[in-house]
Amino acid sequence: MKILVAVKRAIDYNVKARPKADGSAVDLANVKMSMNPFDEIAVEEAIRIQEAGTASETVAVSIGPKQCQETLRTAMAMGVDRGILVETDEDVQPLAVAKLLKAVVDKEQPELVILGKQAIDDDSNQTGQMLAALLGWAQGTFAAGVELADGSLTVRREIDGGIQTLKLKMPAVVTADLRLNEPRYVKLPNIMKAKKKPLDTLAPADLGVDVAPRLSVLKVAEPPARQGGIKVPDVAALVDKLRNEAKVI
Ligand code: AMP
Repeated sequence: MKILVAVKRAIDYNVKARPKADGSAVDLANVKMSMNPFDEIAVEEAIRIQEAGTASETVAVSIGPKQCQETLRTAMAMGVDRGILVETDEDVQPLAVAKLLKAVVDKEQPELVILGKQAIDDDSNQTGQMLAALLGWAQGTFAAGVELADGSLTVRREIDGGIQTLKLKMPAVVTADLRLNEPRYVKLPNIMKAKKKPLDTLAPADLGVDVAPRLSVLKVAEPPARQGGIKVPDVAALVDKLRNEAKVI
């Protein structure tokens, strides 16, 4: 069984995102970029399935500029066998990503595709769902547990009020939630080994996909600055302020 895992190069989660001066987008100039954290979890899960002997090959796919090669090398240093870069300098929105991933799935014929539940830059939470729909495959989103046995996949999902357990027919699409696993640290010898692993580059046109944006961003702005708190002398004053100033009770 082959597993395909989608890895996005996104703004590093430790960086405070700031809008560009003209408010057109998040300013990415000279900003540290890393693998989207949920995608690290997706990669870890794919490798664990392979280490358990259930998968024979793991392939990482990234869509974006040339620098996504670094993201793919990180996935390979974690343990993925090879990488595919769909190279484009366009702003590729979730629908286009899902169409490109579908084209890669048609070529590679994996039985399982694992993605992150959402990219922390656009917070769309759309790509996995749209990919499953385009493929006509089962989907297990927000996975907090994954088990593969006898040709079916059991996915545990954290939902309001408890854990939902789904049994999916293979092939399937899974999106990884935070508590699915704890991704491993990449060790130096594995970084060296990853440099020698195969990395293919394709263009969206090779896959016959039109990546033209369907949405336009009107404005990106910082949230309003928070005002400092005040101390109230007693409960009565607090209730008075909540009722008459904040008008929340
Ligand atoms: P989103 O729907 O944008 O929140 O992204 C959900 C997931 O889709 C991410 O966690 C990735 O696994 C995958 N994904 C989104 N965009 C890309 C991309 N440009 N390249 C590779 N994977 C992507």
